[in-house]
Amino acid sequence: MRILYCKKCKKFTLKQTCSCGNKTEQPKPAKFSPEDKWGKYRRVAKKQQSL
Ligand SMILES: [Zn+2]
Repeated sequence: MRILYCKKCKKFTLKQTCSCGNKTEQPKPAKFSPEDKWGKYRRVAKKQQSL
């Protein structure tokens, strides 16, 4: 089961066609999550501490 998104209603639904008649689409996942971004900085900081 996948969550779909109606751009028109700005609503999440499980139906391929929204109740408004608009075709729903899969919400695009973010390329990088903010957690990963900070994780990278954390790793760099750790490296610098160990030097
Ligand atoms: Zn809709």
